[in-house]
Amino acid sequence: MAVVEWVPEEMSILQQYYPCARWESLSQKLSSRSRVAIYNKARMIGLKRRVSERGFTQEELDILRTYYPFAKREFILSLLPRRSWNTIRQKASQLGLKRTEFLRKFRQEQAKSLSKKITVFCANCGKKFEKKPSQLRKHNFCSTLCCNKWKLGKPSPSKGIRRSLETRKKISEMRKGRFTGAKNHMFGKHHTPEAREKCRQARMKQEFGKPTLPEVRFIGMRFKYRLPYTYVGNGKIWINHLNPDFIHDTKKIVLEIFGSYWHDKSINSHVDLQNTEDWRREQYAQAGYELIVIWDKELTKENGAKLLGKIPI
Ligand SMILES: [Zn+2]
Repeated sequence: MAVVEWVPEEMSILQQYYPCARWESLSQKLSSRSRVAIYNKARMIGLKRRVSERGFTQEELDILRTYYPFAKREFILSLLPRRSWNTIRQKASQLGLKRTEFLRKFRQEQAKSLSKKITVFCANCGKKFEKKPSQLRKHNFCSTLCCNKWKLGKPSPSKGIRRSLETRKKISEMRKGRFTGAKNHMFGKHHTPEAREKCRQARMKQEFGKPTLPEVRFIGMRFKYRLPYTYVGNGKIWINHLNPDFIHDTKKIVLEIFGSYWHDKSINSHVDLQNTEDWRREQYAQAGYELIVIWDKELTKENGAKLLGKIPI
């Protein structure tokens, strides 16, 4: 096989382009030589490829320097169509460029969009109002009152839905040991009797601290008409696990003041069974007591004389 000698022009091309040019352009320029031949010749004269500097022309570097710190990724990619984002990032880090300005702007815009309020419509009354995007729900309400009105009479969303055995097992496993060991400083210990009494007192104070406003009104009425009733709503007397508001001084009669919100099922559909009139009447009857109920809406100044007919003396 005849060996074709390298001519000076080929040598100069090799020296100029071998370190940085791509293989495709090299083999185009030296079309009579194979890749192996080019490689061997370059090694013989001591040339090495500097791959990291390959490709990026002065123009491209200028684009990178001017736009990399603040422009959007898509914009930079459109200016440098031959580069992938990875190469651009590598090159930029070699040049000591950082996208600080872009990130600052990006975060500013994000914060802006988060704090920007959105106009929505109330699901109950259709009123227009503003809400943060993070607080949007499936149904939005202008007020708690609207929310309660809308919920009234509607079944609970979880009603009729039963979790599969698998899910229930998963939840059970998840909940095991949540309050044991180091997670609970009382684990394996017991309260002393004094501490328990202290807890009870605190609980009582929280629950029966002060008479409610309707109760205060009735206390005033009691003085005015000299009614033989005593206030025991602070947990003084318990009848069949129930604490009445007032008790008759001599007869077996208890009197309770009912607030509409807590006791009227037609206003609040979530009233507990033990707060309903019928249930309490039955419980008191079991202990031999008669229950008299006064609703808060009845406790007005004009209604005072009318109420007296309801209360046995
Ligand atoms: Zn509304």
